Amino acid sequence: MSRPIVRFAPSPTGHIHIGNTRVALLNALFARREGGTFILRFDDTDVARSKQEYADSIETDLRWLGIPPDVIVRQSDRFDLYDAAAGRLKAAGRLYPCYETQEELEFRRKRQLARGLPPIYDRAALKLTDEDRARLEREGRRPHWRFRLEPTHVTWDDLVRGPCHVDCSSLSDPVLVREDGTYLYTLPSVVDDIDLAITHVIRGEDHVTNTAVQIQIFEALGAAAPTFAHHSLLITASGEGLSKRLGHLSIQGLREAGLEPQAVASLAVLVGSAEAVRPVANLDDLARLIDFSHISRAPAKFDESELEHLNARLIHDMPYAAARERLAALGADEGEAFWNAVRGNLTKLRDAAEWARVVRGPVAPAIEDRAFAEAATAVLPEAPWDGTTWKAWTDAVKAATGVKGKALFMPLRLALTGLDHGPELGALLPLIGPERARARLSGQAA
Ligand code: GLU
Repeated sequence: MSRPIVRFAPSPTGHIHIGNTRVALLNALFARREGGTFILRFDDTDVARSKQEYADSIETDLRWLGIPPDVIVRQSDRFDLYDAAAGRLKAAGRLYPCYETQEELEFRRKRQLARGLPPIYDRAALKLTDEDRARLEREGRRPHWRFRLEPTHVTWDDLVRGPCHVDCSSLSDPVLVREDGTYLYTLPSVVDDIDLAITHVIRGEDHVTNTAVQIQIFEALGAAAPTFAHHSLLITASGEGLSKRLGHLSIQGLREAGLEPQAVASLAVLVGSAEAVRPVANLDDLARLIDFSHISRAPAKFDESELEHLNARLIHDMPYAAARERLAALGADEGEAFWNAVRGNLTKLRDAAEWARVVRGPVAPAIEDRAFAEAATAVLPEAPWDGTTWKAWTDAVKAATGVKGKALFMPLRLALTGLDHGPELGALLPLIGPERARARLSGQAA
């Protein structure tokens, strides 16, 4: 394959969510695997709703996920290109002015439905004479512009859905330009795909009908259409779609909740594919698992709680080298032995801070039976302590007191950590060390 050029094209009107991430990752990882280019295109032709704050947050999210774009373009910088393309379509008679109001269109639609006809635009505006138009404009009407569809079956070979066809005679001519001269999404997207030499349009299946229309626009502008891949959309366990507007599972929120980018990426890419959803440790491995022909056509249902499981599994396997800097940033870098001791107990990396505090102190010990604590202290092994110390010590405590099992271990854990759960004490004890251990066993916070 020649090097693909792909784009992720969000409108910066809200924070992106895990469903948008699926689109972004499929594009970015496909480009990465094939040595291609990943473009971030801000679809910000709706100037009123688009905000710089959201554009910034989308860039931050992509960087956090490990897929910074190679190129960034903004549609709001490219109106000249769209005007030129609209001019060409007008000159070719493919873009024509219409003057109906919403109410008029609604009335016609109802009448068609009542007569059992499909509610598609009747192209009345094509019959207007120059005089009619002049009169309407004198009345203060401004035209919106529709693209005249050819009544053909548009076909394409979709990388996900296989051979697709849409009968364009069953569609209304789409409006490409509004009364106020602003563009709807349809035309600018095609103009940019041509101008940026996009080879693959990878996007959600909600765009399948747009694709048929856009293929006709590519042709009308004298360009070859790119290859299309329409993947299934994510839906929640209760069957709901995700909404940027409602702030569903925003990437920002998941980041703030302490989830690993790889947990989010693994779920977003693998759910609804032939691959089992599992934690994949890096993006190159995840990229190798992408196979468009194995993405299911049914909506991809995912369970939010799955993210925590994936996260925990990633942390449990995370080598110290990968965790070190982040532990340091949390003030919880207690060395490799510490990380190896606690990682199996963590769901989120930041929870390591709690165990660093347990090791370092101060810990308020919980002691119910002072005599038992004293007896245990009396047989504490000599320093230096290592991985064998806990076993040697508890054997000695058992021999001295006759106590065993949980009745032996739990009071020691409570005294040493102040908690009734946590990582193996065999690993924690040498990290706590003899001085703090003695103090805690005597009931002092240390
Ligand atoms: N702005 C469009 C969207 O977010 C882009 C669709 C496309 O990829 O062409 O749905």
